[in-house]
Amino acid sequence: MTALFDRLESNSRTYCRRFPALFTAARGHTLWDETGRAYLDFLSGAGALNYGHNHPALKAALLEYLAADGPVHGLDLHTSAKARLLERFDEVVLRPRGLSYRIQFTGPTGANAVEAALKTARRATGRTNVIAFTSGFHGMSLGALALAGNLAKRAACGTPLDRVTRVPYDGYLGPGVDTLEYLERLLDDPGSGVDPPAAIVVETVQGEGGLNVAGSQWLRRLQHLARERAIVLIVDDIQAGCGRTGTFLSFEEAGIQPDIVCLAKSISGYGLPMALTLIRPEIDVLGPGEHSGTFRGHNLAFVTAAAALDLWADPQFTVDLQKRCRLLAERADAMTYTGCAVRGRGMLLGLAFPEPATAAAVSAAAFRRGLLLETSGAQGHVVKLMPPLTIDDEALHRGMDILGDAVRETTSTEKS
Ligand SMILES: *Cc1c(COP(=O)(O)O)cnc(C)c1O
Repeated sequence: MTALFDRLESNSRTYCRRFPALFTAARGHTLWDETGRAYLDFLSGAGALNYGHNHPALKAALLEYLAADGPVHGLDLHTSAKARLLERFDEVVLRPRGLSYRIQFTGPTGANAVEAALKTARRATGRTNVIAFTSGFHGMSLGALALAGNLAKRAACGTPLDRVTRVPYDGYLGPGVDTLEYLERLLDDPGSGVDPPAAIVVETVQGEGGLNVAGSQWLRRLQHLARERAIVLIVDDIQAGCGRTGTFLSFEEAGIQPDIVCLAKSISGYGLPMALTLIRPEIDVLGPGEHSGTFRGHNLAFVTAAAALDLWADPQFTVDLQKRCRLLAERADAMTYTGCAVRGRGMLLGLAFPEPATAAAVSAAAFRRGLLLETSGAQGHVVKLMPPLTIDDEALHRGMDILGDAVRETTSTEKS
């Protein structure tokens, strides 16, 4: 069955190698292959499917728009779809949180939103250096890739990546070391060798980097440190945002207001490509056309994005989500053993194994049992749990039961 793909598709393909089924249908938390076999999806498109596959409310809005011949491609022309999305974003996300941002529609990938954020920060400050963190991931285009911690990903581009100073993320040097004290010293010491930065780019939970979590207090101090030095604070909320950590924006618990926020992955809600940056109005400095792109007006994504925000307009959605976050954490905690720990926050959790091979073997064993799960971290030693935010309790338990069996199978054969 994989022969067609092996013959014609590029060597750079990746997830399909680990999950070599031919998928023909998808609904909610379930994917079906050509033989009719059902798989539980805890991969969730690496965070692009927070509401599951083909959510009925989003699908209905999409079908209605298509049936009425609503404009599909719009460059950045005003359309009814974009107007409704802007209104809903303001009503459901910005105003209730007292946030004031301009919304920039970038090209439809997360990487493009990160490129836009970097450009804005560099233009606004007139500086070029950027601070990024160990194990960070921000996309595969050159500017975004320069921020990446992962050596293999950076090395693959075949050209030097520079203008980035990498510093240790929260907890990188163990619980006893304050990594912000180190950053502060670098920034304030003219002998540190670090050029004054335009921006600090941070994920609140490192989705690709092994589910490391930045503490709320650490984030507040990071914001304070950036503000004191007129450094633009960019939160890359592409994976942790759109509800993944239990609140729409991942930094709500920390109570910070970054200068720029990048959103992509689940912002369209339906798996349709779409990305945006939220920019503090005072630094909305790029002129007309300075970050142009053909697919910044994907109206189908705007329609489903607005319908996804309608879900959030009901406070019960957040209540149910937080209940599910607790259930996932309980089930994950119960699965740990000496040397294996739970990482992450909300519905973005990982099981970190002492050996990378264990995580890959658990993912493979889970797939054989009908559960899709990927691995995370530069060494791939973390199994990532990312069920849809809307999953029902029965399916969540079923997935965690399968995972438990996969862990037992893997670790018992390792021990023998
Ligand atoms: C996935 C991801 C990106 C890149 O998004 P693409 O759509 O793949 O370009 C950037 N930052 C984070 C944190 C991500 O998880």
